[in-house]
Amino acid sequence: MTQKSLGFIPLIWVCAFCETRNPGPIKTCTSCGAPQPDDVEFLQVDEEQFNFIKDEALIRMAKTGPDIHCPFCGTRNPSTADLCSNCGGEIGMGGKARESGERVRTVGEAQEQPPAMAPEPKKARGRSFTIFTILGVVAVIGLCIFLAFLFMRTDDLSAEVAGVAWERSIAIEAYTTVTDSDWRDEVPEGAQVRSCTQEYRYTSEEPQPSATEVCGEEYVVDTGTGLGEVVQDCEYQVYDDYCEYTYMDWVVVESVTSSGQDLSPNWPATNPGTDQRAGERTESYTIMFSSESDTYTYTTTNVDLFMQAEIGSRWTLKINQLGGVQGIEPSN
Ligand SMILES: [Zn+2]
Ligand SMILES: [Zn+2]
Repeated sequence: MTQKSLGFIPLIWVCAFCETRNPGPIKTCTSCGAPQPDDVEFLQVDEEQFNFIKDEALIRMAKTGPDIHCPFCGTRNPSTADLCSNCGGEIGMGGKARESGERVRTVGEAQEQPPAMAPEPKKARGRSFTIFTILGVVAVIGLCIFLAFLFMRTDDLSAEVAGVAWERSIAIEAYTTVTDSDWRDEVPEGAQVRSCTQEYRYTSEEPQPSATEVCGEEYVVDTGTGLGEVVQDCEYQVYDDYCEYTYMDWVVVESVTSSGQDLSPNWPATNPGTDQRAGERTESYTIMFSSESDTYTYTTTNVDLFMQAEIGSRWTLKINQLGGVQGIEPSN
């Protein structure tokens, strides 16, 4: 967020002894003469509209920074003063700057409730939360080990080949125009940009060229000088060119497949047209086994292993705890 300044307005402070409302920059009560206390709260006079200060000297004062309390007598002096206006002491000898930067309340808000107290820090939850987190992590690790055990631990089983099946595919690719879209600075090199539109891309905390400024409600901040600064928190919605572009690439247009239920797998015939080519090949071999009590299916891409699976031959199967076939080998 960027805090944007709209200008300065006068604030008031209320005398604790006679309840007179005094102008912010005046340092003793105009009615009873009591000094303004160090921790006095400046308030915004309730108004429909801000009564912005036009006087250049006052604005300059508000901009110089918070007033400084004299280290000797406590009198509030402007931040530019070298010597205390009351006792003549040197302000530089440890003078303390007034609080500033706080959001200023209105007179109405101050009458409704006394100055806000810092909320009690909440701490109690922290520790039990940590314990539950540790217990949760331990439980998850335990479950993972258990599942891995079920999956990895195998028992040997003797079975006979009952059937085989194979399938082989070849992708057919065509060299063609591909359309895609992205932000202008993300369009790949060599691509042809067809058309772009301005679209919302991201929100920036800081002002950006050609961004849309979005600001929150106005509020008043204590400058520590008895004047308030009217500010707004703003963010910046950045718009950018989102473009449709085209480029040439090999694209899968179809896939030819052959399959069978014997031990003679073959690749399907391909007949690529103009600007076409044979692309990726995929193969899959399935062997069905039967034991005394059950049937099992094993699928592999290993053609050499598959070619040994004569119907009726004996194999050793590695069966995991979930009943899945983890591995096979011919029995001698
Ligand atoms: Zn007073
Ligand atoms: Zn002084």
